[in-house]
Amino acid sequence: MYEDLKERLTFGGRILVMEGQGDYVAGHISLRLPDDKHRFLMKPAGMGLDEMTQDNIITVDIDGQKVEGTSPRHNEVYIHSEVLRVRPDVNCVIHTHAAHAVAFSSLGKPLLPVSNEGSIFYDGVPVFDETTDLITTLDRGAAVARCIGSHSVLILRNHGIVACAASVDEAVWVALKLERACRVQLLAEAAGGPKLLVHDEDVKAKGKKANRGDLHSNVFSYLMRRWTLQRACPHCGAAGGRQSL
Ligand SMILES: [Zn+2]
Repeated sequence: MYEDLKERLTFGGRILVMEGQGDYVAGHISLRLPDDKHRFLMKPAGMGLDEMTQDNIITVDIDGQKVEGTSPRHNEVYIHSEVLRVRPDVNCVIHTHAAHAVAFSSLGKPLLPVSNEGSIFYDGVPVFDETTDLITTLDRGAAVARCIGSHSVLILRNHGIVACAASVDEAVWVALKLERACRVQLLAEAAGGPKLLVHDEDVKAKGKKANRGDLHSNVFSYLMRRWTLQRACPHCGAAGGRQSL
C-alpha cells in the first residue's frame, strides 16, 4: 500500500545522502498520508536515509506512536508529528545534520543574501536554540514547530536543520538550498566576510524566481536520474547494477 508515496520518500532519502546531508544512520524524512491526515510514513531508525525500501518504511500517528511496520522508530519523531500537527499546508518534513548549516549556526550570524540561495530565504530563517540536544519529547517537538512558524526551514543550533513543505520534492529542495546558502556564506565569511550582497531591490524578485513549483519537481527528477545513473552497472548500464557489486 502507498507504493508511490514510499517510492518518493525513498528517493528523497537517497537524494539527501547523495547531496551530502547523510550522517550515517541519523536524519529522517516523513510524508503525511493523503487519506489520513493524522498518520504519516517515516524512515525507520537504525539505517541510512538512503536505505529506505517499500518494506522497512514505518507508519506513525500524529502523537508520534508507531502504528505499522516492524522497523524501529526514531526518537526524534516529534519534530515530524508536531510540525505536521500544526501545519495543515505541510505534508513532508525533513531533519538532517547538514554540516554547513551546523557550522554556520555556530557563528550566531543571520543568513544573508550572499548567493541566489540566500535570496530564497529573504524573510529570515528561524534558529531553534532552546536546546542543542536531540528533540526527543513531544514538548520539544511542539517548541520546534512553534519556532518554524510559517517558514519552510529552521536551523537547530549546533545540531541540524528542519525543512518542511507540501511535497517531498519541495521539502528536499528547500533542505538542499538552505545547506547551499549556508555553505556559500561560510566561504565568504572565511574569506574575510561578505562585503557585497544581492541588491535590496533584487532580493525578493530573485528569491521568488528561484522558488517555483516546476523547479522543485525538475530538480527532484534530475537528482533521481543522477542517483540512478550513479548506481548503473559500469558494464551494461543497467540501473541498480552497482548494488550487486
Ligand atoms: Zn538530529
